[in-house]
Amino acid sequence: MRPVFTEQPAAFRPRTITEVLRPASADEVVEIVRSGRRPLHPVSTGRNWGLGSGLPVDDGAAVLDLSRLDRVRALDLERGYAVVEPGVTQGALAELLRGTPRIFNLTTSSLRTSVIGNVLERGVGVHRARAEDLVGLEVVLADGRREHVGWWPGTSAVPRPHAAGPGLTHLFTQSSFAVVTAAVVRLLPRPEEVRVLPFTFASDDLADAVDALRSWTEQRLVPPTTKVYNPVAAQADGYLAHVCLSGAGEVVEALSSVLLAAAGRSPLVAAPAYSVDDVVRATYAGDPDPADTWFLRRTAGCPADRFDAERGLLMFLPVVPFSGEAVALTEELIRDCCASAPAVTVNVLDSDAVDHVVGLGFPAHDPAAAAEARESLDRLHKAFAAHGFLPHRRDVDRPGAATALQARIGRALDPDGVFAPGRYSAGR
Ligand SMILES: Cc1cc2nc3c(=O)[nH]c(=O)nc-3n(C[C@H](O)[C@H](O)[C@H](O)COP(=O)(O)OP(=O)(O)OC[C@H]3O[C@@H](n4cnc5c(N)ncnc54)[C@H](O)[C@@H]3O)c2cc1C
Repeated sequence: MRPVFTEQPAAFRPRTITEVLRPASADEVVEIVRSGRRPLHPVSTGRNWGLGSGLPVDDGAAVLDLSRLDRVRALDLERGYAVVEPGVTQGALAELLRGTPRIFNLTTSSLRTSVIGNVLERGVGVHRARAEDLVGLEVVLADGRREHVGWWPGTSAVPRPHAAGPGLTHLFTQSSFAVVTAAVVRLLPRPEEVRVLPFTFASDDLADAVDALRSWTEQRLVPPTTKVYNPVAAQADGYLAHVCLSGAGEVVEALSSVLLAAAGRSPLVAAPAYSVDDVVRATYAGDPDPADTWFLRRTAGCPADRFDAERGLLMFLPVVPFSGEAVALTEELIRDCCASAPAVTVNVLDSDAVDHVVGLGFPAHDPAAAAEARESLDRLHKAFAAHGFLPHRRDVDRPGAATALQARIGRALDPDGVFAPGRYSAGR
């Protein structure tokens, strides 16, 4: 079992942590919550790289490392759901589904990251936002009561994200109102064919290329899952876009021809097939690569277990309108704010919105480089906020403020501060 804190991530102010607790079951979590220890900061696998990994926002918290709760409690291929505990990694769940009629919506992070931590963080999978995978949660509240919210096996026959009545599931995502000890996540049908089409374009064509991708998305030539990599992220001279088509073979074939014709009328150029290899395709197809190759390519070979000790990383994740003009503006802002060109991935969220993943990497043991990255990040936050392009995920050194109503709900659920304030509830 990997302890959450072998080393604190270099990108952030070091935290004083009173202890690291490692329960092995939901019952042990209840005992800890009732034991009077506080404040508790729960993490699943603590690999929230670039945003603080397993660190709490404030000093003096006890970290509740839930990675030993690693059971897949239920798997229903017919109805398309899995009940997972916090220590279940996306690689482990996908491995269980290999060769079945279902797949799980993987992210492009390490296969050793958790399903639950990423869902609670409202991360982004290659097929849809992880929040859309979530249908139910088992939570341990501050008073030690264990409750189910949302859909849970044994209730209605069909797992749906929104049941009748006020929704409670997302009270506990990007939240610090409870410890989550299990989640019900939906599984996608395994597509007959998965084809990832690579396109390139020059920096000068960024605005026109983004507008073309938007119109393809609006008109449903492509699903809202395209990823655009800037030249640093693509490790190439120009931009690279990955468009994923999946479904029946005839549909994929027909859409591929339509797209190639549409590309001819845009700045997007079909890239050589080697721009998408089996490792990338397998992620979209839900088949995990046990060697974690795609992750290792983007971390200069640093494996998940050594990431916090060896790599410095700060991430900035603003949501931006899906338009050529806005994305060209963000490219300019990034260039003006960053001391050295960062890797940027633009993820299409729907036909109106994209998010940006700006990764400011540096050697973990270089304090000057760390300071420079922090300054660049502060400038990015300021410059993007001036245009209303706000981050949808926050880091431990720059938490977001709770609204008055969120704070009231937080105090009602946890009046005695059993749980440490999170990155989305500053001032609670
Ligand atoms: C190269 C690279 C690629 C990446 N690609 C992606 C990507 O494609 N998509 C993406 O979304 N992210 C990506 N990431 C970011 C990150 O690695 C993932 O988001 C990762 O899944 C988060 O770590 P985790 O699963 O260990 O969650 P954790 O760190 O365990 O949890 C995240 C947060 O959720 C809360 N939390 C976790 N578990 C519990 C619980 N049981 N109860 C209550 N609260 C809890 C805590 O606030 C915690 O800080 C990438 C990172 C890198 C370096």
